[in-house]
Amino acid sequence: MSETQAPTPPKPTPAAPPVKKKKKSPIVAVVHPEGCTGCEVCIEFCPVDCLYKVPGPENPEEHGYVSVNGIVIVDEEVCIGCKLCAKYCPWDTIDMVKRVEELSAAA
Ligand code: SF4
Ligand code: SF4
Repeated sequence: MSETQAPTPPKPTPAAPPVKKKKKSPIVAVVHPEGCTGCEVCIEFCPVDCLYKVPGPENPEEHGYVSVNGIVIVDEEVCIGCKLCAKYCPWDTIDMVKRVEELSAAA
């Protein structure tokens, strides 16, 4: 008579490692559209490619001076707050500001 072996229990599946949320930088770049000439210098320096050129308004005179050559906007979700764009903008039209989250946390 042959001995019957107990079935091997299935190996437990290893738990997936917890997904770490990247901490956002406390500051982000803000481009002032009325001063932007659309020169794209800032785009060249951004290490995370979060600056985009978009068309300026069709009637710039209604908005003060706004470049007909297009203006640059910032994807704040991606910006790491490195300040390079603000440092190299030839028209000094980028400011670094605190994120809204930071401001409401401080209130
Ligand atoms: S470097 Fe300054 S002026 Fe040139 S596109 Fe960027 S924000 Fe506009
Ligand atoms: S601060 Fe740095 S990451 Fe943010 S838009 Fe400027 S160059 Fe890009």
